[in-house]
Amino acid sequence: MLNIVLFGPPGAGKGTQSERLIEKYGLVHLSTGDLFRFHLKHETELGKLAKSYMDRGHLVPDEVTINMLKSAVLEQKEPKGFIFDGFPRTNPQAGALDQLLSKLNTQITLMLGLEVEEEELKTRLTQRALSSGRSDDADPEIIANRIAVYHRETAPVKEFYAAQNKYVAINGIGTIDSITERLFAAIEHHQ
Ligand code: AMP
Repeated sequence: MLNIVLFGPPGAGKGTQSERLIEKYGLVHLSTGDLFRFHLKHETELGKLAKSYMDRGHLVPDEVTINMLKSAVLEQKEPKGFIFDGFPRTNPQAGALDQLLSKLNTQITLMLGLEVEEEELKTRLTQRALSSGRSDDADPEIIANRIAVYHRETAPVKEFYAAQNKYVAINGIGTIDSITERLFAAIEHHQ
């Protein structure tokens, strides 16, 4: 199996690039942000709980997030592999993912980290708000919160995979196509 973690701050291009990777490698796309938004839309109990965190740009607690992700993984029948987008965002989430995959006799192949500087992220998120309808993209204060949470809680996850020699940094600046090429090259290089 090919199991990729697509990593990077909010606005780095994880969603856009995930679509390219799924198409090329036939992977199952699991975005915890998308899963939470689905629950929000359908006003499930999980959605109501997640909303209070998402509205402020904070992380949903690990236990809730991990359980949701686990169910989504276990639902798949004979997947070729997964692309994890927006997960893991904390070290406990990364540990839980390793455990889950090892039970399925597989593991993370690579973490691909899209690197984009902060001013560019803010510009991209503000632009995305015009088409995404996401309230957490529309408010500069919430954007700043999400970027701060990324630095504080999520950036250390890089070290978790670097310690396993699985972290590859990808320059996230350039055209969408050129960034896709960089991601493909990193995967091909690894295989
Ligand atoms: P995203 O679409 O990945 O930007 O996620 C939107 C929001 O969903 C985040 O700001 C968090 O509130 C929540 N969220 C998504 N993924 C996670 C995660 N792995 N852990 C905790 N909260 C998450």
